[in-house]
Amino acid sequence: MKSFQVVEFGKPLEMREYVNPIPEGEELLIKISACGVCHSDLHLADGFYDLGNGKKITLADRGTKLPFTPGHEITGEVISKGEKAKINIGDKGIVFPWIGCQFCDACHNEKETLCENPKYLGARLNGGYSDHIIIPNARYLVSYGDLDPAQAAPYACSGLTAYSALKKIPNTNNNEFILVVGAGGVGMNGILLASAVHKAKIIAIDIDENKRNEAKKIGAVAAFSLDQLKDIKELCNGKIVGAIDFVGTEKTTDFAVNIINKGGTVVVVGLYGGSVSLSIPLIPMRSLNLKGSYIGELSELKELIDIIKSGSVKLINVKTQKLNTANEAMDDLRNGKVNGRIILQP
Ligand SMILES: [Zn+2]
Ligand SMILES: [Zn+2]
Repeated sequence: MKSFQVVEFGKPLEMREYVNPIPEGEELLIKISACGVCHSDLHLADGFYDLGNGKKITLADRGTKLPFTPGHEITGEVISKGEKAKINIGDKGIVFPWIGCQFCDACHNEKETLCENPKYLGARLNGGYSDHIIIPNARYLVSYGDLDPAQAAPYACSGLTAYSALKKIPNTNNNEFILVVGAGGVGMNGILLASAVHKAKIIAIDIDENKRNEAKKIGAVAAFSLDQLKDIKELCNGKIVGAIDFVGTEKTTDFAVNIINKGGTVVVVGLYGGSVSLSIPLIPMRSLNLKGSYIGELSELKELIDIIKSGSVKLINVKTQKLNTANEAMDDLRNGKVNGRIILQP
């Protein structure tokens, strides 16, 4: 098999050829149809996450061994399986990449993103910038029905992250509002998927006027910049029940916490970095709910794929290109040239 791998942090990926692995036990060998290029792949290739204020987490410290294949938005087909795997050869699906240790309580309860010893595909185990991949168990392959495999792929990360964040806000009514702070890729997914989860109207908040206009085109009832607090409050008239911070800076989280109504829920998703100071008495006095949301669970991916298959929401804009353009795809993403999702196909 051919894989595009991080051989040295901070350097372009290199194509390496290997003999196809043989699945054992409950493992499956998947022939990859498509793999999305996600922002976090850039961090993995760089070898660090920037925490702000000069702090970094390096992947070498976290035990990532090189060479290593990135890519976690994977669709494909089962071409061989271990003797204990319960699936048919030829079955197709989207891979749930956020796999835990498979042994702890979190993993047994299908809360794998809460596992303390994760084995994420494309982060800890080899991922989808390849023509084949081993996955540890058939339960991590979710059928996507008649969807185009390239169209389905980004729901494993970008779509799932937005969906899981929306679900962390309690049920809403159609006279209420949810603020989507940051109308980048994941935020746009939040707007596209909102109607499948909530009755509330969506307002987009972004510093970029083009993104605000785009957000209105895909379903936001209004869009504002961060400094239009007064206009937002006037429009919403005390009915802002949720805010999702898809950026995760001091400024955006502070904005969300300050604008939310009593009893409202702020969900922080973005990992940009920084810290906020919270007035402690205001947390009880305003019955504030502050939650973090990290990607999403297997059960949520299944729900999400059912929503996508039903045709009730508009889909993510995807652009397919050959796997051997992986480095160009990553450069384009790094340089902000990507509109929608780039999908690599072997
Ligand atoms: Zn991702
Ligand atoms: Zn676990």
